[in-house]
Amino acid sequence: MGREGDEEEVSRPWIDVSVTLHTGMVSWPGDPPVSIVPFKEIARGGSSNVSKLSMGAHTGTHMDAPRHFFTTARGLDTMPLAATIGPARVIEIRDRESIKVEELHCHRIRRGERILFKTYGSAARWRRPDFDRNYVYVTAEAARFLAERGVRIVGVDYLSVGGYKKDGAETHRALLGAGIWIIEGLNLSAIKPGRYDLVCLPLRILASDGAPARAALRARF
Ligand SMILES: [Zn+2]
Repeated sequence: MGREGDEEEVSRPWIDVSVTLHTGMVSWPGDPPVSIVPFKEIARGGSSNVSKLSMGAHTGTHMDAPRHFFTTARGLDTMPLAATIGPARVIEIRDRESIKVEELHCHRIRRGERILFKTYGSAARWRRPDFDRNYVYVTAEAARFLAERGVRIVGVDYLSVGGYKKDGAETHRALLGAGIWIIEGLNLSAIKPGRYDLVCLPLRILASDGAPARAALRARF
């Protein structure tokens, strides 16, 4: 990389906004637990170190495909890469319960935008070992509003875009049914609201309802 590239990396570094996958980490209640264990080990006479991964498709930082709520709909393997590579906006939500239409009105959301929501208490929430039911979710009404606006991506900073036993299926259906790809489980604790470049690449799993993803943001000026 040339000098120019190095300077850009210093002034506008890529910030990893994915959570680290590890055995026993928090997952959605009722989903498979996360287990990452040695399958082959050099220390035990193996020719190399190879881990065995076991987890639900909606673990940690991950994406949802339409197939998550519509059985014959598209899987994540068909998502165009352009959906999750490009400009994005991080919006900080003040409401401590949910993301509501009234608050969204203040942000002049436009067609084609990639919108990531930074919500109250999320940094502390990720530090908890257990599942927190009181995360800030997108109401079904706000999901319909985002679908009408024609946003491209919606991202949230805990394990579901919908609430825990409230607006779960409705919120997902409103977004996924409108062709909006969903990113869940982002860690936005180091990110201020504003405009960024986004890269988020979910694993390419055939006809998948969801897949773990690596996501990064870089400030735009
Ligand atoms: Zn979801």
